[in-house]
Amino acid sequence: MPSVILKAGKDHRLRAGHCWVYSGEIAKISGDPEDGAEVDIRDHKDRFLGRGLLNTHSKITVRRFTTGKEDLDKAFFRSRIEAAWRYRAELGFPSVVNETATAPGSQRVVSSEADLLPGLVLDQYGGHFVLQALTLGIDQRKQWIVDIARDLFNPQAIIDRSDAPIRTLEKLKESKGVLFGQYAGPVAIRIGDEPTIEFEVDLLEDQKTGFFLDQRLNYGAVAAHCAGKRVLDCFSYHGGFALSAAAAGAGGVEAVEISEQAVSRARRNAELNELTGKIEFVCANAFDLLKQYDGERRQYDVIVLDPPSFTRTRENVEGAARGYKEINLRALKMLPPGGVLATFSCSHHVDAELFRSILVDAAADAKKTVRLLRALTQSPDHPILPAIPETEYLKGLLVQVM
Ligand code: SAH
Repeated sequence: MPSVILKAGKDHRLRAGHCWVYSGEIAKISGDPEDGAEVDIRDHKDRFLGRGLLNTHSKITVRRFTTGKEDLDKAFFRSRIEAAWRYRAELGFPSVVNETATAPGSQRVVSSEADLLPGLVLDQYGGHFVLQALTLGIDQRKQWIVDIARDLFNPQAIIDRSDAPIRTLEKLKESKGVLFGQYAGPVAIRIGDEPTIEFEVDLLEDQKTGFFLDQRLNYGAVAAHCAGKRVLDCFSYHGGFALSAAAAGAGGVEAVEISEQAVSRARRNAELNELTGKIEFVCANAFDLLKQYDGERRQYDVIVLDPPSFTRTRENVEGAARGYKEINLRALKMLPPGGVLATFSCSHHVDAELFRSILVDAAADAKKTVRLLRALTQSPDHPILPAIPETEYLKGLLVQVM
């Protein structure tokens, strides 16, 4: 087996349970492996550290898949995907929560590093499965994944959404299309118990794999505070928080989103759930609108801030922190005592501690004292491996102004 030999002292991360090898940590590569190939990882004394897939064009040059000596063949991928599926089933987080004939449930079936399958995301929307290959190693094995998913899940269709910009870090082009079966346009999914909302999702055209599945358990947590209240949902995408708030009996809901496509989908979702008229949809830049509303001294009872990641790199954390502070400050100023803020960050580089301190700063500047009602996180079908901090990316704080 070709090997990647690490420099002395560069084995700590792997020994501590992480799975990435950076290019700068490699002393030499022996056996002349092709990019995408299986390689052994060894320390400077030639001690075995595991097996992974190679891409010399990526800064993360090897991603370890196993600490054992097993082959990374199709049977290996199948058993890892089965294990990921089992975990979700055992959680009482079944594949088809709330399934009905027209609107089945949805979940992330494979969450990349967090399911020990670095680079592979597989989401289920009822009978439709959406695959994202984020690394060269997975890109080369797409057909295996399709075969395995067909065999295990008997899907109606498998769709490729490997059009994530992050693929450029692997020197891969974006690709998307139907890999198996027929895709006849948007599918209906059903999210949440209290309340249950139906969403229409275009698995080929909407953002990411179609829906932000990681947030779905948080809709109910926020909706619980919305009955009879004035609610502002910023960065609303398909209206997850806004629709749940309206369904929970909010007095008025405004949803702000910059993408026209997302706004029209959210409007359609309001119709589907017979909530039209209860939600005002605004297609605008939330930064500008928050500034304007704050200037007009508007007041809300509940505000949701769920912006996209403001930074993908460590270098830009300061800029991201400024962005978070600004929107949180403006939101807090518009909340009277008793008002609730649900604020999120999905930037991995802004960790929980930093995010909390940004909120503390914003509250101090807004001259408000807040109490933490609940810390929120990604739903458990996006598992967190403590040894791989990057797997914990969604941080939410549900706070109340005192
Ligand atoms: N809360 C949503 C997910 C939000 S993802 C849910 O639960 O599904 C972030 C959203 O912010 C995306 O839909 C993106 O289009 C939107 N967005 C990005 N920049 C924005 C801006 N400046 N103003 C308003 N929306 C923005």
